[in-house]
Amino acid sequence: MTRVYNFSAGPAVLPQEVLRIAADEMLDWHGSGMSVMEMSHRGKEFISIYEAAERDLRELLAVPANYRILFLQGGGIGENAIVPMNMLGRKAQPAVVDFVHTGSWSGKSIKEAKKYCTVNVAASSESQKFTAIPARDTWKLSKDAAYVHICTNETIDGVEFQFAPDVGDVPLVADMSSHILSRVIDVSKYGVIFGGAQKNIGPAGLTLVIVREDLIGHALTICPSAFDWKLVAENHSMYNTPPTYAIYIAGLVFQWLKKQGGVAAMERRNVAKAALLYDYLDSTDFYINKVAKDCRSRMNVPFFLTDESLNEVFLAGAKERNLLQLKGHKSVGGMRASIYNAMPIEGVQALVDYLKEFERKHG
Ligand SMILES: *Cc1c(COP(=O)(O)O)cnc(C)c1O
Repeated sequence: MTRVYNFSAGPAVLPQEVLRIAADEMLDWHGSGMSVMEMSHRGKEFISIYEAAERDLRELLAVPANYRILFLQGGGIGENAIVPMNMLGRKAQPAVVDFVHTGSWSGKSIKEAKKYCTVNVAASSESQKFTAIPARDTWKLSKDAAYVHICTNETIDGVEFQFAPDVGDVPLVADMSSHILSRVIDVSKYGVIFGGAQKNIGPAGLTLVIVREDLIGHALTICPSAFDWKLVAENHSMYNTPPTYAIYIAGLVFQWLKKQGGVAAMERRNVAKAALLYDYLDSTDFYINKVAKDCRSRMNVPFFLTDESLNEVFLAGAKERNLLQLKGHKSVGGMRASIYNAMPIEGVQALVDYLKEFERKHG
């Protein structure tokens, strides 16, 4: 068996240890005689898996007691509609929502929100081709916004918030799909945090929502029941059948993270991994990273070959060395290395070694 270094943006690499445990437990979970996939979500076995996952996530992110953790479906894109449908009922309609436009994903959120509310783009880095995060003091927030939406890590553009912006009493909603659990955050600065699991947590199909209790219970009447945070919270994420197997794998990832020393330890590793890659990219003219240094994502590193006619040769050589999924998103071009929690530093080193080797040969 050969395990490759998988630099995919998502679904993405998972810790090998987690996959081994899942394989060992596939046919018979803890003497139950069943796979987790076959269990009733209301049985005591699955309830214990669910409760451990919730508890571990709460511990890892130090989620305060007045926040609920919801395990949903629908992905980050689903949340682009689910968030407004749950948040707008606090205001008279049509309500205003402030957005900070920092790349593709916040752009998608803006487009979807326009179905439900009046969108105010409070700040945008579009004129800089999304290579920076607009400084907080340039944001033009509305007087009476229902909430402020940001995407704290733009997976495609490779920009990441290095700060939690202060927006006063207005709830701050953050799409953290591609960097949740990669760095220490202060949950209390946010009203809502959401993220699809398939980047930094586990399999596709699970969406996490962490929401402050007072923001629950204000859904618009058009909100589907399965996505009404109040019903979901009251039913401990079991109003409808939750994505049980994805919750199980996410739970194993949470246990793995705790064994690694928790989020602060992961953050130190992620800083080291990102520095290894960016420092090399910056040391040569053969490769280019266009993102402002203080906004660079530690998780998703887009870069370009100065001579783009070499792109196909570069990717073919990478594949020969088991360095996979390095092609950039089609909207940006070039290359992208996603180096999530589960990517070991050895994988980043192997990539840097290949970058050097390729440059020696073609530079
Ligand atoms: C991947 C991603 C999404 C979309 O997730 P889906 O599960 O495809 O809906 C949304 N936001 C960000 C930041 C992402 O990286």
